[in-house]
Amino acid sequence: MKNEELIALAKNARQNSKSIYSKFKVGVALLTKSGNVYTGINIEDPQFLILGICAERLAIYKAIESNEKEFLKIAIVGGVDKLVKTTPCGICRQLMLMFCPNIEIIYLDNNQNICVKTIKELLPEEYEEKF
Ligand SMILES: [Zn+2]
Repeated sequence: MKNEELIALAKNARQNSKSIYSKFKVGVALLTKSGNVYTGINIEDPQFLILGICAERLAIYKAIESNEKEFLKIAIVGGVDKLVKTTPCGICRQLMLMFCPNIEIIYLDNNQNICVKTIKELLPEEYEEKF
């Protein structure tokens, strides 16, 4: 699947964002190696980030629930009215590193150009548990 197609699916998902407080709507589309796409939206609550969830984590959890093991790329779009550069927050980056270490992150810059980064580029020197 082309990056443009995945961005289009993320834009479509974004329409269902439940960003009732910030009004910053985020939509994502996650492509797995099996060819399935899982979408996600941000869901907000009055205590930001306590009960709500980011679009990226929602999509990844949905994929994990469906026994997906390998993740190829995730497209992310966000903004209030117009789309602005939107990359994953730190919590989502850490989750991606744990469950999707080879994933590519596809996002738009402020000029609507498609950008591609690996999770290791977005989260270098990652936290790692040593047991
Ligand atoms: Zn996040």
